[in-house]
Amino acid sequence: MSSPDEIIDIDIAIIGGGSAGMALATKIDGVSTKIFEPKTVAERDCSWALWAHPSQLNELRPAIRGSWDQWRLIDYDSEVFHHSHAYRYTSLSAAKYLQHCETMLKKPDMMVRASVENIFFEGGGARFSANGQNYCAQTIYDSRPPVSKSDSLRQHFMGWEVMLKEPIDDASVVTLMDFRVDQSRGLHFIYVLPYSDRHLLIESTMISAQLEDKDWYRDAIKKWLTDRKLEVESQLSEEYGVIPMDTVEPQNSKVNNIGAAGGAVRLSSGYAFSTIQAQMSLLAASITQGDREVERPFSKGLMFLDKVFNRALSAQVDQGVSLFMATAKALNADQFSQFMLGKAGLVAWARVILAMPKWAFIKSALRQLFSHD
Ligand SMILES: Cc1cc2nc3c(=O)[nH]c(=O)nc-3n(C[C@H](O)[C@H](O)[C@H](O)COP(=O)(O)OP(=O)(O)OC[C@H]3O[C@@H](n4cnc5c(N)ncnc54)[C@H](O)[C@@H]3O)c2cc1C
Repeated sequence: MSSPDEIIDIDIAIIGGGSAGMALATKIDGVSTKIFEPKTVAERDCSWALWAHPSQLNELRPAIRGSWDQWRLIDYDSEVFHHSHAYRYTSLSAAKYLQHCETMLKKPDMMVRASVENIFFEGGGARFSANGQNYCAQTIYDSRPPVSKSDSLRQHFMGWEVMLKEPIDDASVVTLMDFRVDQSRGLHFIYVLPYSDRHLLIESTMISAQLEDKDWYRDAIKKWLTDRKLEVESQLSEEYGVIPMDTVEPQNSKVNNIGAAGGAVRLSSGYAFSTIQAQMSLLAASITQGDREVERPFSKGLMFLDKVFNRALSAQVDQGVSLFMATAKALNADQFSQFMLGKAGLVAWARVILAMPKWAFIKSALRQLFSHD
């Protein structure tokens, strides 16, 4: 045990043991590394969902809560139903995933259960303290949550995990977006993961700049249940989240930022898990080669198209439902999965663009082109 006055020299310090920090920590080998995280895994539990390729499912198995090859989007006029042969929409327990990562660490003492404080950044590294102990790291990978503008477009949601009194008809289909809800405050939908025919995760999700009072989302979930004559036997948990849909500022832009702080959250959808996994695998491989730079998670082209999509959404919130429905209708299940993963090819993008209201898309594209954003 070192005395608090002593400085512990480490090669790599990862600040934050969330999705990005833990994924990186499990993959780094042969370099003295510590990862700093104050919260327990149970304190950070929520559902993280992704479109998983079969090869990923085995790796993620200890954390999987449910996995489906069918999903749908629905509004008052139509339903888009997708059945994929290549991808499974998969829900992970964040706590189980993080716990699994901890067991995969090359050395258990890599994990320091403490907050990083008093940080003095120098070059790509820093001096800092954690739990009263001083550290000096050559390289910092910072995953502390980024700061987002309070007036920008955000995805904000409340989720209830419930046990129903009676089973639903079909637990084999995920409802990604059910738009048959109050649209007066912004783009609003209900998201449903049927873990079994009685055990559901139901989220009221809004895409808007303005956050709502928490009871607003709760009332929306209750109304959705009542409209479908579904009665709750017990409520198992509640989760609340806000995901920025605009470019974010990391807490310190001079160091290497990873995960959400490194811009890995897809601007048009809020999905980030798969991108973070890929970004951390690449980074771990580079570190082994002696290169410590973090690659940009998305191409400039994809960022541009996502910003155009979000501009069109912000300018015409009343068209939001048709924008999402048109995107889903334009693609088959596998193209849609790739699109959501940020891996869509030109054909899929062309289909999406052609399906959108032309004038709204052109206006947003021109505005984005001439903005400095
Ligand atoms: C409620 C919610 C649900 C989401 N659901 C999905 C989903 O279904 N699918 C998807 O793809 N994406 C989802 N996302 C988006 C994204 O995948 C997550 O935000 C993901 O956790 C980002 O990973 P990260 O490592 O960048 O940040 P985090 O997982 O937030 O990790 C950052 C960590 O830094 C720690 N920290 C903060 N300050 C300090 C400090 N001073 N010292 C040390 N540690 C510190 C925090 O405790 C935290 O654990 C969701 C986001 C939220 C908020």
